[in-house]
Amino acid sequence: DSAASDHESIHYYQSGEDEAHLERLIMLDELKQAIIDDDGQLFMTYQPKLHMKTQKIDKVESLIRWQRKDGSWVNPELFIDLAEQSGLIVELTAWVVNTVVAQVANWQSKGIELQAAINVSAQDIAFSGFHSALVSTLEKHKVDPKLITIELTERDMIENEEKGIKALENLKAIGVKISLDDYGVGQTSLGRLKMLPIDELKLDKCFILKLDESQKDQFIVQSSITLGHQLGFSVVAEGVETLGSLELLKDMQCDHAQGYYLSRPLKAELLEEWLLDHYVSH
Ligand code: C2E
Ligand code: MG
Ligand code: MG
Ligand code: MG
Repeated sequence: DSAASDHESIHYYQSGEDEAHLERLIMLDELKQAIIDDDGQLFMTYQPKLHMKTQKIDKVESLIRWQRKDGSWVNPELFIDLAEQSGLIVELTAWVVNTVVAQVANWQSKGIELQAAINVSAQDIAFSGFHSALVSTLEKHKVDPKLITIELTERDMIENEEKGIKALENLKAIGVKISLDDYGVGQTSLGRLKMLPIDELKLDKCFILKLDESQKDQFIVQSSITLGHQLGFSVVAEGVETLGSLELLKDMQCDHAQGYYLSRPLKAELLEEWLLDHYVSH
């Protein structure tokens, strides 16, 4: 018996899979603590979205960052995935919502009019407390719901479809905007697209990154923009890395552009400086 348990413990420490599992558990614990402590390990960055018609920045997307106490960075896709799998996402999203809504209120108090998008997952939308928590956060900070957009991917919208759609309709009813993120790489059929209560279509960056070099991407993007407009949605392109792509998107009547060509995601204060440098006429 003791030989068997010895064997197991040896196996435990030798297996790369188990080590990875252990590493995830440790990371999850640290993430939990980082949310509770709110000591700067977790912070939000904001990436501007350029309104093509007016050439003004009227929106930003909030994107979370995590730098652990030892100084190492964790990729957001990795820890968001970890949070989703463990159910911690509900707490993490509550932290994000609080932080972003407070930031929008802070901008308002300085006369900076920016709408902010928040990325959420299927579990957030399915969670019955999400709606009321968002409403009370908005009230607490006196932020108009119209200034907040919820970004969801196709996969997130399709999970618990009926319940999810109802929840999104309830958010729309109070004025919150809904955006379909990473459009074009998921499983949204056109029939489903017609049913979703969305305001904005965000074309996935895989169609945009090489837009100025690929005629196929140009066909896909042009027809998606036209389709989006005909269905009544505003269309955003993410992953705009070159002037060429930006100009093509403008010609294609795309409503907003977002990407490294304009700016990387920035901490709030840096975004304010960037806005002053680039988009305020003196
Ligand atoms: P997403 O919502 O599709 O965000 C767009 C991603 O593209 C971001 O990666 C952004 O930094 C990156 N990006 C922006 N412009 C460019 C560009 O020109 N070129 C390239 N190559 N990339 C660009 P990031 O920040 O690493 O976030 C990755 C994903 O993690 C997000 O994808 C989103 O799904 C998730 N995420 C980020 N922040 C949050 C959050 O606060 N909550 C939740 N639930 N998910 C989040
Ligand atoms: Mg997004
Ligand atoms: Mg996206
Ligand atoms: Mg994504």
